[in-house]
Amino acid sequence: MLPIENIFPLLSQPRKVVITTHQKPDADAMGSSLALYHFLKQFGHEITVISPTNWANFLSWMPAAKQVLDYESPNEKARDAIKAADWIFCLDFNTLSRTKNMADKLLEAPGERILIDHHREPQTAVFAYGISDTGKSSTAEMVYDFIIGAGHADKINNEIAECIYAGVMTDTGSFRFPSTTSSVHRMVADLKDRGLQQSIIHENLFDNHSEERFRFFGHILLNRLEMFYEFNAALIAIPQADLIKFNIRTGDTEGLVNFPLSIQGIKLAAVVIDRGEERKSSFRSKGNFDVNSFARKYFNGGGHFNAAGGQNKETLPEVVDMFKKALQENRDQLSSYNF
Ligand code: 5GP
Ligand code: MN
Repeated sequence: MLPIENIFPLLSQPRKVVITTHQKPDADAMGSSLALYHFLKQFGHEITVISPTNWANFLSWMPAAKQVLDYESPNEKARDAIKAADWIFCLDFNTLSRTKNMADKLLEAPGERILIDHHREPQTAVFAYGISDTGKSSTAEMVYDFIIGAGHADKINNEIAECIYAGVMTDTGSFRFPSTTSSVHRMVADLKDRGLQQSIIHENLFDNHSEERFRFFGHILLNRLEMFYEFNAALIAIPQADLIKFNIRTGDTEGLVNFPLSIQGIKLAAVVIDRGEERKSSFRSKGNFDVNSFARKYFNGGGHFNAAGGQNKETLPEVVDMFKKALQENRDQLSSYNF
């Protein structure tokens, strides 16, 4: 993987470009992809933004979100665009398997794959160019760095600013995680100077849920939360029947894992959801417990030090048992937590 700076001089020659991200994109995945879209568009590139799967409704306000293709919906456009692309930007993921059914098509594609990502252990061999920096708060911040680094600060318009802000604000937990460096604040100050209106973005992302989702959270917190005080850990395991009962859609479960993490003394919080085709897990930690390694070792996953996820083919009760065993195996580290 060659440094991403190598493509800076090539930006002004119009090409066929695909921008893609991980399955079930969150605000950073979608925000960074659309920010890059609004930037590259200004050079006359022919751009297709593709998501491997559908995404949460609360992302649909993002400028140009309606043009994003869902690879799982039946149309040939996304497949053709991947085959024809000169450049395939891969944002907010670093192993092709994170694009689910698209992974093979991305690998076969003749175009050059370009990585912009902040997760651990990138699959560098499959990218022609790229930047992987786990020190970065968000992929959105990296797209900002890309634009500034290429010498095009003047091209940052309102659409780009809104998409970048949505990505960085959500991936930093509203600027609370340690990844929130002074550069993050300087970037947001710059976006603000360029006219960013942040309040509406917070409303669009956080005050935009269905009543059913709210009642679902009530049910889950009351009936599905299990505490493991000796390990400073908490688990929420959600059967598929709960999702059906409350008409839960993509994105509705986002943020749920933060509730158990907010309980005094809890160092590790986990949510496992039976989505039918797989059991999807989310892990969050406080302090020195590394959930990236935890998710990799036990749940076919990965992510960041304090936020990671995974997926399993085993049944929900089996995954719960695996979690309990994993707690035992990490007893020393988890039980020794000092507050
Ligand atoms: P979430 O719990 O919000 O789904 O994911 C938390 C973090 O872990 C995100 O940065 C996400 O990209 C990463 N992540 C989630 N699921 C997986 C997975 O199955 N594999 C890997 N490698 N990373 C994941
Ligand atoms: Mn991210």
